Amino acid sequence: MHNIADVLNKLGVDLTPYKGDGIISHTPITGTVLANLRAEQPAQVAEKVARAQSAFAQWRNVPAPRRGELVRLFGEELRANKDALGQLVTMESGKILQEGLGEVQEMIDICDFAVGLSRQLYGLTIASERPGHRMMESWHPLGVVGVISAFNFPVAVWAWNAALAFVCGNSVMWKPSEKTPLTAIAVHALFVKALTRFGSDAPEGLAQLVIGDSACGAAMVDDARVALISATGSTKMGRAVASRCAQRLARTILELGGNNAMIVAPSADLEMAVRAIVFSAVGTAGQRCTSLRRLFVHDSVYDALVPRLKKIYGTLAIGNPLEKNTLVGPLIDAQAFAAMQQSLTSARDEGGKVFGGERQQMTDCSDAYYVHPALVEMPTQSQIMHHETFAPILYIVRYQTLEQAINLNNAVPQGLSSSIFTTDLREAETFLSASGSDCGIANVNIGPSGAEIGGAFGGEKETGGGRESGSDAWKGYMRRATNTINYSASLPLAQGISFTI
Ligand code: NAD
Repeated sequence: MHNIADVLNKLGVDLTPYKGDGIISHTPITGTVLANLRAEQPAQVAEKVARAQSAFAQWRNVPAPRRGELVRLFGEELRANKDALGQLVTMESGKILQEGLGEVQEMIDICDFAVGLSRQLYGLTIASERPGHRMMESWHPLGVVGVISAFNFPVAVWAWNAALAFVCGNSVMWKPSEKTPLTAIAVHALFVKALTRFGSDAPEGLAQLVIGDSACGAAMVDDARVALISATGSTKMGRAVASRCAQRLARTILELGGNNAMIVAPSADLEMAVRAIVFSAVGTAGQRCTSLRRLFVHDSVYDALVPRLKKIYGTLAIGNPLEKNTLVGPLIDAQAFAAMQQSLTSARDEGGKVFGGERQQMTDCSDAYYVHPALVEMPTQSQIMHHETFAPILYIVRYQTLEQAINLNNAVPQGLSSSIFTTDLREAETFLSASGSDCGIANVNIGPSGAEIGGAFGGEKETGGGRESGSDAWKGYMRRATNTINYSASLPLAQGISFTI
């Protein structure tokens, strides 16, 4: 394995100020400890919010294209350090190196997007009903944006939020997952380099990092000076965060659990479908919010498809994610393995036939949890299929009609991503229509995972309803002011009201 000290060194990270007790970074590759870090306390969160708030007061007045220049410089740092940061992502989260590098590429892409956006941030002009009047919408910075992120995308989620938040004129506080603190420290170090190159109009305190557990996240959530909480993680976390934010009527962007499905229709190109299924279901060892978890296969193609999947599942390269040919790395920890086994037991109890799913022991890695991804043929969409298990389990159910398949797709509490494989235009358009998939992401002839940054990312129902990344997601990081300007010499009232004084 690569040496953690070397990788951190390459990234210019000095861990000295972070060292201490309370947060332990492990590598899921071997299960060994990478670093012991000091857990920050809620009181320190409050101090950091105060600094972020005063930084915001200055940053909001820096012209947006100049703010974009900071994000451009950060993108340059990422380009220059892509290999080392990608390696660190792999070492701390366990995803294969190609996906670690891909995650950094996603950060670079959102920086590019945000730089362009910094010369846009468009408002509207609106026709006024009154003569000599003009109406318009202006978009203004919001304040301190609090980002809470999950272990499985330890760096990209922050970048999706932060790149937009910075060009929109906000300061950003980040509470990363306690399972992936080193990647966050490294990203923060790269951002500080960009800040140094940017010059003196970037205020001190613009980007704050909090290394701590969920209590620190909760402290940020409860702090009335934090204008927006953007939280990515489990639905359980989202419920806790949403109800606390509701108490103070704070804005939220919630990106929570998914339970994503694919429909394989009679006319599907099975070659393409097989590749999409395998990548979506076993990529990141099934630990993506968009991982494929439910597969609905038409009766007429079931016997052609499912045996092929079993064959491929039987030969998947499982192992050290830093090695070139590996396709499936480890689960994040023992808890994830236990949850996977529990779900497989429930699936069996509910009539499922399980293929794979067992642990793969690695020499000298007793604390690492490698598994054979599981295929589970289910008689119907039973109870267990309504839950997201964050592991590589793919449930397969037969269907007879498209209506039935769409109903199955929509019958779970989550609503993140979905897809259909079909070459039948009517089926494709029905799936995308108002009576089709109820998810935030609906795809045709590609899998449910691996979104591009140009589109708005997020999902419905228990996935939380938030949108991040491309399209007009930037509006979530700004406040809208409606302005009416009277350039006439009289004062007509709206709705024709007469009010003589
Ligand atoms: P998690 O919910 O355990 O933790 C996520 C983050 O929330 C961590 O930083 C944690 O410290 C913090 N947190 C937990 N409870 C909190 C509370 N009460 N108040 C404030 N902060 C709190 O999630 P995880 O295991 O790290 O990640 C896996 C989950 O994240 C899966 O459900 C996955 O689907 C979801 N996820 C969703 C998306 C998306 O965009 N929809 C993306 C990635 C991951």
